[in-house]
Amino acid sequence: MNKIVRVDDINSFSVVIPVYNEEGCLEELIQRTLKVCREVGMKFEILLVDDGSKDNSATIMSNASAANPGEIISVILNRNYGQHAAIMAGFSLVSGDLIITLDADLQNPPEEIPKLIAAAKEGNDVVGTVRQKRKDTFFRRFASMIINKITQKATGVNMRDYGCMLRAYRRHIVEAMLQCRETSTFIPVLGNSFARKTCEIPVAHCERAVGESKYSLMKLINLQFNLITCMTTAPLRLLFYLGGVSAIFGFILSVTMIILRLIYGADWGAQGLFSLFSIAFIFIGFLLIGMGLQGEYIGRIYNDVRQRPPYFIEKVIGQKDN
Ligand code: UDP
Ligand code: MG
Repeated sequence: MNKIVRVDDINSFSVVIPVYNEEGCLEELIQRTLKVCREVGMKFEILLVDDGSKDNSATIMSNASAANPGEIISVILNRNYGQHAAIMAGFSLVSGDLIITLDADLQNPPEEIPKLIAAAKEGNDVVGTVRQKRKDTFFRRFASMIINKITQKATGVNMRDYGCMLRAYRRHIVEAMLQCRETSTFIPVLGNSFARKTCEIPVAHCERAVGESKYSLMKLINLQFNLITCMTTAPLRLLFYLGGVSAIFGFILSVTMIILRLIYGADWGAQGLFSLFSIAFIFIGFLLIGMGLQGEYIGRIYNDVRQRPPYFIEKVIGQKDN
């Protein structure tokens, strides 16, 4: 049975941080995050997941774990799998009632963690964040804007900023995510798809202090495709609609051609050239409709192979014990 248990009280929390070649800011990140977590006054753990860094990050992390046993846990992956896979690896080891994700580059200050905990305590399953005065390039912000709009439409969850990874998930949401077998995933969207109550709070955003973004243009495009395919197979249906429009247009065009040809004679129709166009439109339409239909099957195959549980039971009330 797909069962997850929602714990109402939040008595402990875990912070999951993916790290990929971040030696320049790791020390500061660890110190600042530790300080904030200690101030909250709750049981906590910080999980640093090294995503196959080629620099000194793994050593810095291990030293921090040795110096702060129980508080800092280092998870070393054998190679680079990508930010979202690294976070998933961290999720599989967390023990807190609330799980907070944070980037290692200090673009989102760890000092915002208490705000997220407070918002989760109000009963929210997922706490999203909106970056105030976002310090990224115009291209990144513009692309995010379009993607966020599409995501809002497709998921029906009205969150404004899916790109910000400073987020909090209650434990049962993380357990649900861990039961999804897909390898290409986008955690904020996946998390939201299992949440009953969500909220969004504003958080500060700073420029990357050290190093540069670990996302090349290709990686970024791949990530956006992960985001879209993670929530919907609708793009596969697009060809079907396009084909339909093309076929109808071709049909109308050919009827018009025939009528005008009869009225104005063969020369007007450039000896049948335009009629060929209209026939081509009809056939292209049929082809696209065929591809769209295949897409429908592929979409269903895709949904089946990733074996995402179709539902989760949170509670059963009034059932007699067998
Ligand atoms: N990251 C990772 N694996 C990767 C790429 C990035 O673990 O393959 C981590 C990175 O160390 C950082 C976070 O993911 O903690 C976000 O990366 P980055 O700041 O480069 O992305 P941006 O802020 O430009 O979106
Ligand atoms: Mg960043």
